[in-house]
Amino acid sequence: MSVVAETAPSKTFRAGAFGNARVLVCRECSHEVDLGPHYACPECFGPLEVAYNFPHVTREEIAAGPANIWRYKALLPVPSDIEQSPNMEPGFTRLLKADNLGRELGIDNLWVKDDSTNPTNSFKDRVVACALSAARELGAKVFACPSTGNLANAVAAAGARAGIKTVVFIPSNLEQPKQVNSAVFTDRLVAVNGNYDDVNKLASEIAGEEEGWAFVNVNVRPFYAEGSKTLGYEIAEQLGWRLPDQIVIPVASGSQLTKVDKSFQELIKLGLVEDKPYRVYGAQATGCSPVSVAYKAATDAIRPVKPDTIAKSLAIGNPADGIYVLDVCRRTGGAVEDISDDEVRAAIVLLARTEGIFTETAGGTTVGVLKKLVETGQLDTTLETVVINTGHGLKTLDAVSDRVSAAATIEPTYSAFTAANLV
Ligand SMILES: *Cc1c(COP(=O)(O)O)cnc(C)c1O
Ligand SMILES: [Zn+2]
Repeated sequence: MSVVAETAPSKTFRAGAFGNARVLVCRECSHEVDLGPHYACPECFGPLEVAYNFPHVTREEIAAGPANIWRYKALLPVPSDIEQSPNMEPGFTRLLKADNLGRELGIDNLWVKDDSTNPTNSFKDRVVACALSAARELGAKVFACPSTGNLANAVAAAGARAGIKTVVFIPSNLEQPKQVNSAVFTDRLVAVNGNYDDVNKLASEIAGEEEGWAFVNVNVRPFYAEGSKTLGYEIAEQLGWRLPDQIVIPVASGSQLTKVDKSFQELIKLGLVEDKPYRVYGAQATGCSPVSVAYKAATDAIRPVKPDTIAKSLAIGNPADGIYVLDVCRRTGGAVEDISDDEVRAAIVLLARTEGIFTETAGGTTVGVLKKLVETGQLDTTLETVVINTGHGLKTLDAVSDRVSAAATIEPTYSAFTAANLV
């Protein structure tokens, strides 16, 4: 298995290995490549994306499926017996009405899609489940990734459960909890002295040298990326088969945001929801905001940056799908916005105190950007709005540990309690 973009003989894969997926198609020039471990167009080096021959799919068929992402398997590049292979069964996470946060921000109709409750506590379990299926069907011997943390957790856990060898690469300055959350599942966690973009470069080099490695976000990236669509499918189904009017999504590489838009488009085409306008908003932290900067400058030229933010899971300085994020946000009438690390911290506490949801810095970024979009008049507060929480606060405790603490430390007596004057 090689990562170069030559055409692979698809007949070597078992029939139906990729479900209703038909081919990989270049996003730039529409050139088609057989399904396989390819991510770059052989004609123009543009990114490849999975295209399908969708069958007729009904709401009832989907609703009869399992309470995880495989209820949408007909719309994913996975075999029809995907549930039989050991996997983490992610997805179908809670869509919570967020009236308290809505009141606080002045939004009439607000929902939080809480993806922190996935098996390894981030949305990454969705994309990894699809990448794992592709790796298995392609006969990969090693399941690997460069990661800003959550992806490493998800890959290491899914590999353990599937019984496939994992190697995960992270920047060595990553938060300790995210390191432990990977190392507990694999004895091949590799800490690299460099930032994510350095780690990513190293991974691409290894992918080019080694045979039989499936790098989830490199050579099987088209399959990985499709997993993000399930976020959009779920939101629509949980709203009663209806698209929201506005949705706020964090942006690292930009894959998730792009695929949520793709999922809405597919639902419309399949007749599963009514066609209607919706606005997509992207959220970044100012210390790594190349897409937001380009959006505000009204240009397509995204200038790579060296990340400097506590939102490490979003700290991709050279976002592969950044240009498509700009396209989606502009086309739908949304926007891309960024906030400071202090605003990220404040938003983590705000979400916790209003809705009882402890998010990591990525979710703080998204909720904080939602607040800023309201304050700057970029979001319509009368429209139904969904904000995505992509990860769990227990992974980034340091971000708020000096903002929240015990209100008092007292002796174990009633008088000491009343003297502390807490209630
Ligand atoms: C990976 C990640 C994202 C988004 O990643 P994309 O590369 O933009 O798809 C968002 N939130 C968290 C917590 C993540 O780990
Ligand atoms: Zn091309």
